[in-house]
Amino acid sequence: MNIISSPAEVRAMVREWRRQGLSVGLVPTMGYLHEGHKSLIVRAVAENDRVVVSDFVNPIQFAPNEDLASYPRDIEADARLCREAGASLIFHPEPSDMYAPDFSTFVDMKGLSENLCGRTRPTHFRGVCTVVSKLFNIVTPDRAYFGRKDAQQLAIIRRMVRDLDFGIEIIGCPIVREADGLAKSSRNTYLSPEQRSAATVLSRAAALGLGMMEDGERDAAKVLGAMRSLIEDEPLARIDYVSMVDFDSLQDVERADRPVLCAMAVYFGKTRLIDNFVFEG
Ligand code: AMP
Repeated sequence: MNIISSPAEVRAMVREWRRQGLSVGLVPTMGYLHEGHKSLIVRAVAENDRVVVSDFVNPIQFAPNEDLASYPRDIEADARLCREAGASLIFHPEPSDMYAPDFSTFVDMKGLSENLCGRTRPTHFRGVCTVVSKLFNIVTPDRAYFGRKDAQQLAIIRRMVRDLDFGIEIIGCPIVREADGLAKSSRNTYLSPEQRSAATVLSRAAALGLGMMEDGERDAAKVLGAMRSLIEDEPLARIDYVSMVDFDSLQDVERADRPVLCAMAVYFGKTRLIDNFVFEG
């Protein structure tokens, strides 16, 4: 398995695979890989002849006050995990391989990117859509794999692929969790031991909300109120948002009378973690 930093070399490799009639899967990541990423890679390996894992902390999806500089990185450990999972190639560019000094073209999206995480991170999804478009153009995969942990991101990528005719199949994969329910995340490494145990409140709130809805509650205010109180009882947690939105439009709903996404973002100190569940009704 090669680690390649040059977009042109990745293109050449993919061209050769194509010549041999092989199918190609892409798993976009920011590295510091864990079991959540691995589940995407394993699925991609099962469904494609060759799998490219991109490993790139994309500067343009971070706002100036965010954690770009401190975001954890460990390419050697990532390479081991990718090899174990059966990936064919890691694309690990430098920012300068992806962005010319006078880079000036962006992929922006209205609507879906404005609610939920878009409220606190107004430029984030522009950075995500732009880098994912570049990755799609460089790797030209048949299929690309994204985790449902980033539910808004998955919805946005699906919309972008439809709107811009990328012709790539987008596969959403289940959330992988720690034994105590915390969704696996590269950012969990920022947490102090106290914050780490407090962070289980996210999955506990999700379980509470889902349980209420399975018991027949459809009133968003009631479900969200109960989830918020549970989180507010945790002194180390500070809510960014807890929302119930229409699964397709990502607009807030008052009643869960159609498929909905319940999503939340909560700070533990400076670390912002997200979690969600989907209720189909
Ligand atoms: P990241 O490196 O955090 O940008 O994540 C890269 C991809 O892995 C995204 O599609 C994420 O949704 C997915 N991912 C991250 N954590 C998990 C998890 N715990 N379970 C499933 N997928 C995940």
